[in-house]
Amino acid sequence: MTVSAETAPALDELRARASALDAADPLAARRERFVLPDGTVYLDGNSLGALPAAVPAALADAVHRQWGTGLIRSWNEHQWWQAPLRVGDAIGGLLGAAPGQTVAGDSTSVQLFNALTGAARSRPGRRLLLTDPGHFPTDQYIADSVARLVGLEVHRIAADGLPRFLAERGDDVAVAGYSPVDYRTGELHDMAAITCAVQEAGGLMLWDLCHAAGALPVRLDELGVDLAVGCGYKFLSGGPGAPAFTYIARRHQAAFDQPLTGWNGHADPFGLSGDYTPAPGVERARIGTPSILSLLALEAALTAFEGTSMEQIRAKSLSLTGFFIDCADTLLDGLGFTVVTPREPHRRGSQVALRHPDAYPLVRALAARGVIGDMRAPDLLRFGVNALYVSYDDMLTAVRHLREAVTHEEHRDPRFRQRAAVT
Ligand SMILES: *Cc1c(COP(=O)(O)O)cnc(C)c1O
Repeated sequence: MTVSAETAPALDELRARASALDAADPLAARRERFVLPDGTVYLDGNSLGALPAAVPAALADAVHRQWGTGLIRSWNEHQWWQAPLRVGDAIGGLLGAAPGQTVAGDSTSVQLFNALTGAARSRPGRRLLLTDPGHFPTDQYIADSVARLVGLEVHRIAADGLPRFLAERGDDVAVAGYSPVDYRTGELHDMAAITCAVQEAGGLMLWDLCHAAGALPVRLDELGVDLAVGCGYKFLSGGPGAPAFTYIARRHQAAFDQPLTGWNGHADPFGLSGDYTPAPGVERARIGTPSILSLLALEAALTAFEGTSMEQIRAKSLSLTGFFIDCADTLLDGLGFTVVTPREPHRRGSQVALRHPDAYPLVRALAARGVIGDMRAPDLLRFGVNALYVSYDDMLTAVRHLREAVTHEEHRDPRFRQRAAVT
């Protein structure tokens, strides 16, 4: 890559910092637990995690031996039946949730529907369902649908407006559904304060952890969170369409009345009764027969976290995103970019978002250079950072390519302006 004379010393300094930070990184060797193509800088693990090296063999075993040879016997012999709870507990371990409160299966959208409806039913007489106007679309759509079904009113209140709203109408709030991390800007909200405020008003707190699970410590039990959901394919790297999860705090389980009363959640599923009696514990959050192949892929993927802690992952993630912002400040100055992710570490999730009017063609031009991020309409370039496999050198390389792409006006290339089905 070419560098202008004035950026050369700054670039040398950034290069030296990247190599010192990589050399001192206690998680550096974790990258070997992932299969990443050579010459690719992968910064979209907040949308689809990279392939963990343990997954192909686990899937081959699940298909050939467990399914092919074991046939239906594998439901018992390979504990397929217990997989949603086993994988749920493994995820719970990354969320600060003691065993017996987390179940894996279905999609986040389905789990949200189930959890929100169950929460609303547990607060009869209260008429309001709160959600974030900036929440991921599926969360808003499902909030609207649940409200229609249960007879609630949805109020879209931004996280920073919650204290005021709760002070005025808190005693009418049944449930609040929020994400700790804004999926566009990467802003991190104060989970403890929001949970506390909603509960003090008498409502239930449901967190959508799609952008937090596997990215930062969330301490569900310690914060006394009521319910949580999240997906398996982002920072948990469980594969495209990986099973999602639901957390139901133990104190709510016995009364939890979920709408999707599938037979897997029955107290005696093989009694084949015509009447639904929910299982006593978190097993009731099971729905129908789960996708075993996907659960086993996710289970193998989670082994990439073994021997680390979420605190350690968080420390590296913040250091990486901080370094990315430094690189952007130095190398992208005057080129039309704005860093929209908060600079204060405690207000930042595990991504950096940059605003630029040509975000889409720039993301495409970057991909052609081997740097994979994504675009969120209308004008954000989003770079997700999974500290298990991303390096400081990746951060600098990405920003250098972005500088090159924009200075060479690659984003004007009509090839990159054509929208693909998935952006
Ligand atoms: C990624 C994401 C989803 C995805 O839902 P699916 O049902 O898996 O498509 C939902 N909510 C949030 C906040 C997300 O970030």
